[in-house]
Amino acid sequence: MLQTVERFLDPWEAHIVCARLNADGIPATVAFANHAIIDWPAALALGGTAVQVPEEHLAQARRIAAEYRAGELEADLPEEPELQEGCCPECGSGPVRQVAPLRQRLLAGLLGIFGATFPTRESEMVCDNCGARWEA
Ligand SMILES: [Zn+2]
Repeated sequence: MLQTVERFLDPWEAHIVCARLNADGIPATVAFANHAIIDWPAALALGGTAVQVPEEHLAQARRIAAEYRAGELEADLPEEPELQEGCCPECGSGPVRQVAPLRQRLLAGLLGIFGATFPTRESEMVCDNCGARWEA
């Protein structure tokens, strides 16, 4: 019987964790991702997308998912400049984070009223130090 390792509001993150578990030989699958694609608000109400594994793999899968959450798996990434944490083009420091632009958030709110799906690929970077914004 399949057991839920963890639930995600972002179905793409669920697929990333699923792929990470598969890389360790765990036969993980993603469940309820179609809710997020068809109706985002309903997917949120139903608890998001789940990563599931057979019961005998649950303990190992939860350990790997916890390592993912803690950022411990980032040490496995190759040393490539584009994978390193960014810094602000204005003040040269950080931390910086990715956010949806205001117009995208307003559109998401408007479409949410009509129950439409809202996938967005547009995003901006914001500097937590000086507040500068730039396109990702
Ligand atoms: Zn800055």
